[in-house]
Amino acid sequence: MHIDLHGKKILVTGASRGIGKAIARHALLAGAKVGIHYAKSQQTALEFKEEFPHQAVPLQADLSLSGSVFRLFEESIEALDGLDVLINNAGVAIHSPLNGEDTQWLDHWHTTLNTNLLASCILSRKAVEYFLSQKQTGRIVHIASRAAFRGDTPDYLAYAASKGGMVALSHSLARAYGKQGIMSFVVAPGFTQTDMAQHFMQEYGEAHALKDIALNKLTQPEDIAPVVLLMAGGYLDHATGTTVHINAGSYAH
Ligand code: NAP
Repeated sequence: MHIDLHGKKILVTGASRGIGKAIARHALLAGAKVGIHYAKSQQTALEFKEEFPHQAVPLQADLSLSGSVFRLFEESIEALDGLDVLINNAGVAIHSPLNGEDTQWLDHWHTTLNTNLLASCILSRKAVEYFLSQKQTGRIVHIASRAAFRGDTPDYLAYAASKGGMVALSHSLARAYGKQGIMSFVVAPGFTQTDMAQHFMQEYGEAHALKDIALNKLTQPEDIAPVVLLMAGGYLDHATGTTVHINAGSYAH
């Protein structure tokens, strides 16, 4: 099967590194026009712009600030000249021990919920409004986490809670708007070799990560991208409301 995304306008948040970068790259290769969103790392967006001058659109925004999230949506619509698919991928995993200092612990919760969950809620709300106003088909893909289903360690409670919120958001959107042609999906990666996973790798090492999974090789960002492309391209519409778990057999749900 050949995945063709020509004519599709896709916003990928957190497309500068890791999983988002792989999704954006494969979407560009499949012919889509892609909003390459980043917060601080501009490099990838510039490289994609050079390689795919008519398809890649760099977009900057700090998603921990709700005002910037609203601005990002407006800029995306303008720069992409519309929107067919929103991919809520950007995220943070902040190490925050349960016995940490109160104010700092609370700050970590706010940053995590604002970046991972509230930004996804705002962008989803704006996307639904837009799809309905245009009377068009629309698709939203939420990159959640195995942590939403399995739970995480006490050092990452906010992270797990934010990802659980994304799953509930996706279920609700899928139930509410399917008849109007809006689909909503979750992809739940397990441990994937990106910058986000560095802290774990440094503390426990690759051998420990490998022991947790059923395969011989750690999951790479490229292992996540194909399913997202199928969702974005409309090949999985009848799976709206569901989650695809990509965790190398470390956890079955
Ligand atoms: P990553 O390599 O750390 O990349 C994170 C991305 O999010 C970057 O593009 C970053 O932009 C962006 N971002 C971070 N903070 C932001 C902010 N305040 N505003 C806007 N953008 C921000 O992470 P990853 O591993 O690819 O993770 C991608 C998604 O997969 C996340 O939602 C993560 O929770 C989820 N996930 C990852 C794993 C894993 O093991 N890696 C497992 C399960 C789920 P800049 O580069 O500009 O900072």
